[in-house]
Amino acid sequence: LKWWDHVAPAPKDPITSVTEAFLADASPTKINLGVGAYRDDEGKPVVLQCVREAEAKIAGCDFLESVSSAVSSKLVEESVKLVYGMNSDIIKEGRFAGVQALSGTGACRLFAEFQRRFYPGSQIYMTGPTWSNHHNIWRDALVPERTFHYYHPDSKGLNFSALMDDVKNAPDGSFFLLHPCAHNPTGVDPTEEQWREISYLFKVKNHFPFFDMAYQGFASGDLDRDAQSIRIFVEDGNLIGCAQSFAKNMGLYGHRVGCLNVLCNDAKQAVAIKSQLQQIARAMYSSPPVHGILLVSGILSDPNMKALWVEEVKVMANRIQSLRTTLRKSLEQLSSSLNWEHITNQVGMFCFSGLTPEQVDRLQRGFHIYMTLDGRMSMAGVTTGNVSYLANAIHEVTK
Ligand code: PMP
Repeated sequence: LKWWDHVAPAPKDPITSVTEAFLADASPTKINLGVGAYRDDEGKPVVLQCVREAEAKIAGCDFLESVSSAVSSKLVEESVKLVYGMNSDIIKEGRFAGVQALSGTGACRLFAEFQRRFYPGSQIYMTGPTWSNHHNIWRDALVPERTFHYYHPDSKGLNFSALMDDVKNAPDGSFFLLHPCAHNPTGVDPTEEQWREISYLFKVKNHFPFFDMAYQGFASGDLDRDAQSIRIFVEDGNLIGCAQSFAKNMGLYGHRVGCLNVLCNDAKQAVAIKSQLQQIARAMYSSPPVHGILLVSGILSDPNMKALWVEEVKVMANRIQSLRTTLRKSLEQLSSSLNWEHITNQVGMFCFSGLTPEQVDRLQRGFHIYMTLDGRMSMAGVTTGNVSYLANAIHEVTK
């Protein structure tokens, strides 16, 4: 018997393989529009000022020895306020089961595991398309996946009527994975009115919406407005689940700070569900690293640092928004015969450009511009310095 001969290399991840190709390119004009990480107008990663302040506050403190449950409770308490609102009754009544999680991915994974355990045989409906890792997460938790209509390639917007039909036709009591704001990869969000209609139908059908909120603040620049979709569902009396990530909106990618919460009918259910989630986490990784949790809970529980964070989120969202406008204008000034309105209609970190895989390939080979093959551009990689080069290149490959 020879060990490991049957293990073939795993297929390449569509997002990380773009980064690898980008790093291997020596061109000084190369642009990475692959990974959805925020960059400043010089293309550099950003450490937020609020994070610097929080770091200074915890420097040298005695947190290394153990995971303090007080620290993680604080994180959960502050995180759920971002979901339900500062003064929500849900929080006062303790009607949610909340646990800290290994960023957004870990929160989704915990929930997927929980779903399989307590609703064996259930499926998860995902938007067509969705973030590529969603498929992996629910597959590894052995939850079968279904797709529901979301994006319309012709309008490069929402296919609302097909979405509503799919929600209507799904068996009552189905699980749906929704993006509350800044949909990845399409940048297409329902309007407030459309969310109200979706929520109403969910209530009628007794579906369970699980919101994966990885970009709160990035759609509108306003944290409350970006949670509006969730609050509509809650107002309508739906129970919900929510994964939160602080990777993007606090720039804490490497710290893996997130939160999972499940809204319950009463506090007693919340206690039961929380203990089950904790048990699942315990077997997977015991407890999360505490340093990042201290940063986030420190920022969210200090009014001055929180106010600074709110401003910094706005700055990030505005920079992306203004580059959308510039990119669209630049393409229009080049007399492109195509319609580029979707660049500014779509919101958040991503623009689903409509470029074909061949055009994406030409951008990479001919212009050193990197994005995933589905034509998703991370707008965070666009700067005032490279936007006209990018517009020219897009124009060349779409003539
Ligand atoms: N959900 C979506 C839709 C995402 O785009 C991402 C990040 N790419 C995540 C979850 C999770 O990211 P993280 O685990 O880094 O928080």
